[in-house]
Amino acid sequence: ESNRCRNKDKSDRATTDGCLDVLTIGTICKLIKKGYISEVNGCVATGKEASVYYGKLYSETEGEVHLALKIFRTSIQSFNDRDKYVAGDFRYRHRYNKSNPRQSIPTWTEKEFRNLKRLNAHGIRSPKCLFTKYDVVVMTFIGDNGWPAPTLKEVVLTQDKARELYRDVVIMMWKMYHKCKLIHADLSEFNMIYYQGKVWIIDVGQSVENNHCEATTFLKKDCTNVTEYFNRRGVATMRIKELFDFITDSSITDENMEECLDQLSKNSKYRSEITDIDQAEEDVFKQVFIPKKLHDVVDYERDIDEAKAGGDLYYKRLVGLKADLSGTVQQPEILEKKQEKEQ
Ligand code: ADP
Ligand code: MG
Repeated sequence: ESNRCRNKDKSDRATTDGCLDVLTIGTICKLIKKGYISEVNGCVATGKEASVYYGKLYSETEGEVHLALKIFRTSIQSFNDRDKYVAGDFRYRHRYNKSNPRQSIPTWTEKEFRNLKRLNAHGIRSPKCLFTKYDVVVMTFIGDNGWPAPTLKEVVLTQDKARELYRDVVIMMWKMYHKCKLIHADLSEFNMIYYQGKVWIIDVGQSVENNHCEATTFLKKDCTNVTEYFNRRGVATMRIKELFDFITDSSITDENMEECLDQLSKNSKYRSEITDIDQAEEDVFKQVFIPKKLHDVVDYERDIDEAKAGGDLYYKRLVGLKADLSGTVQQPEILEKKQEKEQ
């Protein structure tokens, strides 16, 4: 037992980022004593809010399991930034303590734990979530021999590979929204890892319910990051607004999702082929406020009048209205257009 604890002491000395404080060491020691973790090695990566340690568990049933221990930093600065994610999430409304960030840490780890569980449950490629204790979340390690797999930021991709990964990421975003009812809220090349030829999604501590009051703002940001990243890697992506509409369109289902995506990718253009008008529209879309619920619409009649006069009603897909506002959508517009062409 004492020998096991010493393993962890070694990792403590190896760290210079100051995130293993006495309390965290105590937590890890307890986890080792209880047999949840067998050993903890050094820090393998640091992110915006946490450091990740590599560890192992020797389990009788599963053999050697490689672990990633995500340990949240407790500095006040990084926690104040997180306000906006928790403030609108009803699951955590009673527990969030703004004046004492240390008290909110279990809320953060629990949030990451529960969100990751949802991704696991719906088959979205992500580390398998194992357990959480105080400021530590333990999940499976993505990588080999203690080396974490690179983030999308770090990998070099061929154009074909990038195209394949783009489609895959779009589908994962769609599933996350419709199946997990979550918006990642920090999706970018820094929070996607490339392992065994596929993309794995990580860092879901700040992810919000898709009915969060700022859900559309977060989703728009995710769509922007993903689009811009894959554009830089030479992929002819959908436009940001198309991606946003694809993800939120309530008439897109398991059955027609792939078909819609095929149709959309036929229309996709390389960034260099995008006209100034397209670009201007995209810029407006980035700026505009999109209400999540009809309740948030300030002046519905004004919006409808403007839309009928040729303007765009940005929230039409979210509330299930047709583009010409002639009624509610029964099937995805992109497929309707396709059928018209075929007739
Ligand atoms: P932060 O919230 O601080 O950004 P992340 O969850 O993004 O924390 O983790 C920080 C870094 O640790 C990631 O960029 C990634 O390189 C690495 N990492 C995180 N989780 C794992 C994992 N399960 N397996 C391997 N590496 C991981
Ligand atoms: Mg991160």
